[in-house]
Amino acid sequence: MSTAPRRSPARAVVIGGSIAGMLAAAAVRDHVDSVEILEAHELPEGPEPRTGVPQAVHIHFLQTGGIEAIESLLPGSVDLLLAAGAHRIPVTSNMVICSPEGWYRRWQRATHSLITASRDLTDYIVRGQVLKDPRVTVRTHTRAIELLGDRRTVTGVRIRTDHGPEAELRADLVIDASGRATRTPQWLARLGITGLAQDQIDSGLAYASRFYLAPVPTRGWPVIGVQASPSLPGPANAGGILPIEGDRWHVSLMGAPGGHPPRDADAFEPFARTLRHPLLADLLTHAKPLTDVHVTHSTANRRYYYERLTHWPDGLVALGDSVATFNPTYAQGISVAAQGAIDLRELLSRPCAPGLTHRAQRAVGRRIDNAWALATGQDIHFPTTKGKSPNLADRLLHRYVSRLSRTATGSFHAATALTNVLALQAPPTTLISPSTLVAALLGPLRPPLKGPQFAPAERNLLNGLDKVAEASA
Ligand SMILES: Cc1cc2nc3c(=O)[nH]c(=O)nc-3n(C[C@H](O)[C@H](O)[C@H](O)COP(=O)(O)OP(=O)(O)OC[C@H]3O[C@@H](n4cnc5c(N)ncnc54)[C@H](O)[C@@H]3O)c2cc1C
Repeated sequence: MSTAPRRSPARAVVIGGSIAGMLAAAAVRDHVDSVEILEAHELPEGPEPRTGVPQAVHIHFLQTGGIEAIESLLPGSVDLLLAAGAHRIPVTSNMVICSPEGWYRRWQRATHSLITASRDLTDYIVRGQVLKDPRVTVRTHTRAIELLGDRRTVTGVRIRTDHGPEAELRADLVIDASGRATRTPQWLARLGITGLAQDQIDSGLAYASRFYLAPVPTRGWPVIGVQASPSLPGPANAGGILPIEGDRWHVSLMGAPGGHPPRDADAFEPFARTLRHPLLADLLTHAKPLTDVHVTHSTANRRYYYERLTHWPDGLVALGDSVATFNPTYAQGISVAAQGAIDLRELLSRPCAPGLTHRAQRAVGRRIDNAWALATGQDIHFPTTKGKSPNLADRLLHRYVSRLSRTATGSFHAATALTNVLALQAPPTTLISPSTLVAALLGPLRPPLKGPQFAPAERNLLNGLDKVAEASA
């Protein structure tokens, strides 16, 4: 935000009309007179796929920390999502997860919850909530191509529409929410701001995903997951099934270099059988595929350290994937963007002072730090990962977290401590609090589970499916 007394009308421009752009608009709308969102592509009327978000064909869920942030920015969003068919999944009670250290227990007491839905539905609800506010408008088919201003202050953006000439759009606040394709590093360099540090840690994971008609009622059905283990030889394969709206299962399979999942539909279910446990493959034999298989290799952890720059122009903030992307296995991107938007709103509510946007960028960086530590702290231990190799401290930490993870299979305290961090509600440093250290030292208080834990009603449904399959064989 400009350091000068605020001009009237104060105008914010958001680059990118996806989820971070919408959440940014929600965060700033009470502090400016108008917000204009620029989106390079079309925005659909309903919960439909769109060009700007190709990753929507892969499983997406919201972590507890992200749900809270979205609800705070856009009250009522969770109810709207649930009414439209999204599922609230109690953690860990409604999760059947095979971790590298064994099957997690489904504790009776749920401490957190996830929301599972198609990404198209989540975006549609969030978009609708933001665009019903008359202060927020959107220009589709409009691309930001340059920042206006100088190294001290950003004063707007140069835009290009699909069919019109270039134009200048003045703004007191510009928010970059243009995702992985961001050009902010180059734009800053053109303003004379150089020396931007960046990091990339890439496990080389590929995702292959498909929608299925669920063979069982999805309401109340658990999330299913088989995670990869860095300690096993061979490529790290993993997969997950999320119950989503429309009685569907959204299924993603993941594989590291040397074992990438196939695009070929006939090879999708056989690939599921290469996971550490056949649960996903067994369940998919009963489900009916509704779509082709979609593959992506865009899974690297990549971040720009804007917060470390000594010069940061007033009037510019970057949010969401434009600042940092994470290995999607940890499902953090949307939640981190939402938490960053909360920080931005908080800072804007204080009296306007010099360096406000630099402080906002540092706050965004702190949110990223937690998620980054979590994702890269795991990824560096896979042999195929490029960008960083674990040092002694990393290895010791990893051994501790593995021990804590094993403890979590049979200790409610350890399971809750881990979930707090995974759900982005507590920083990873809390994993070494005295009580959690003691829990890890004691190890699991209950014996390991021998296999997936299904509730009796779920087991009956599965037995019924097996009987039908046998009868028709
Ligand atoms: C396979 C996969 C699975 C994932 N699973 C999860 C998950 O379970 N949970 C989770 O939280 N996150 C997940 N993510 C991450 C999540 O998809 C991103 O974090 C999220 O989409 C980031 O939102 P964004 O708005 O920053 O960027 P995007 O959603 O990528 O959107 C960027 C927008 O900017 C527009 N744009 C780009 N350049 C310009 C320009 N110059 N001018 C105007 N508009 C522009 C684009 O058209 C697009 O609409 C996953 C990612 C992948 C790849």
